Amino acid sequence: MVVQNTPTSQSTPASLPPNVFTLPQTAQLEALYTIIRDKNTSRGDFLFYSDRVIRLLVEEGLNHLPVLPKTVETPTGAIYEGVGFEGKICGVSILRAGEAMEAGLREVCRSVRIGKILIQRDEETTQPKLFYSKFPPDIAQRYVLLLDPMLATGGSAIKAVDVLKEHGVPEERIIFINLISSPEGLKTFCGKFPQTRVITGWIDQGLNEKAYIIPGLGDFGERRYCL
Ligand code: URA
Repeated sequence: MVVQNTPTSQSTPASLPPNVFTLPQTAQLEALYTIIRDKNTSRGDFLFYSDRVIRLLVEEGLNHLPVLPKTVETPTGAIYEGVGFEGKICGVSILRAGEAMEAGLREVCRSVRIGKILIQRDEETTQPKLFYSKFPPDIAQRYVLLLDPMLATGGSAIKAVDVLKEHGVPEERIIFINLISSPEGLKTFCGKFPQTRVITGWIDQGLNEKAYIIPGLGDFGERRYCL
């Protein structure tokens, strides 16, 4: 039996914030997500297929960078009126799971600068706390692709954008890329940063009592590095 070519499991909230962009919800994409969500998928397959989704996400992120007119001469001697990227970019991964997205960015942006940021829950205040950050020195002049695979409550991503803003990066020059978003996380994040674009592969149903995304794929870092 041939099944319909339309994916069904995405739960797009009725009013998606205007700064949220999902990947085209094709049957191929849903097949990739079905593999990485399956608890019986081997670590090798999880790496391979999550990398494929990451590659699609990074390519989509680059579609949101501004371009300027650029004229070149082709080997035929003809003039081609094209475009070139306007500014410099860098990646910033939210440790540890975001590191898994760095290779996908490097595949399409050769020798791209990558910063890192470690945010963890402060046990006293229960609020996300910055533990470590290292950014390219000229980050304030760059477009930033912020990398974190799972947007759950939004706490870490919000803290990361706060830190980037403290380093002089305007919120509209940040593009936050993730594989799966919860509607709650999107609402909180986009309510705080309406100018930051969010590129997500899939919007899931919600969060469970432990703040895991449902149906989700479990702990991304564990599945990528440990299992
Ligand atoms: N982080 C994960 O790895 N998985 C979730 O479901 C939520 C946060």
